[in-house]
Amino acid sequence: MTLTVDTLTSWMNNFANKIEENAQHLSDLDTPIGDGDHGFNMSRGMKAVKEKLATKPVDVTSAFKTIAMALISTVGGASGPLYGTAFLEMAKKSTTTNDLGELLDAALAGIEKRGGAKPGDKTMVDVWAKLVPDVKNGTLTEDKIHEAVVATKDMVAKKGRASYLGERSKEHVDPGSESSGYLFEAMLETEGL
Ligand code: ADP
Ligand code: MG
Ligand code: MG
Repeated sequence: MTLTVDTLTSWMNNFANKIEENAQHLSDLDTPIGDGDHGFNMSRGMKAVKEKLATKPVDVTSAFKTIAMALISTVGGASGPLYGTAFLEMAKKSTTTNDLGELLDAALAGIEKRGGAKPGDKTMVDVWAKLVPDVKNGTLTEDKIHEAVVATKDMVAKKGRASYLGERSKEHVDPGSESSGYLFEAMLETEGL
């Protein structure tokens, strides 16, 4: 699937709406295994993204850069630089291709490099690593997204704040995985993607 400024913008607006609707839920997930701010961090960031994209970017690369900068400067916490890196890597990749699967591959590689987390560490990487191949194969579904998010419940956190809890981080869904799930859901629901 090839991304355009219009499909990217509606994808981001859909994501922003999901984040806003579920901000409290995301922060609630972050309360037992973190510091209870993930939903507030993300909703501040996506509000800024929505505002910036209201002025139509000239091309996909500048749209990705705008999104990345808005997230890096407003989200904060661990998730800000990680989501920011994902979009910055997509900006770079978009100078050679606008294929969604390839862009997401670059984003995932950026998140892994920046945060040092691997699949199984109970971070957003778990959702991205599982779902990017589905996007590339055209086999992404709501059920797969849900499964990937819920799978983090049984994991022991190895990175981020939740890792301070060791075994006690089990039995809780990772908040960054939930918000990443919304990003993939928003993509599924975007017409033309
Ligand atoms: P903070 O923990 O600084 O308050 P947030 O609450 O906004 O930041 O984000 C927490 C989320 O960030 C976690 O649920 C996890 O998915 C993600 N995360 C934290 N550290 C890493 C890391 N090293 N690599 C990938 N994702 C991470
Ligand atoms: Mg937090
Ligand atoms: Mg925090």
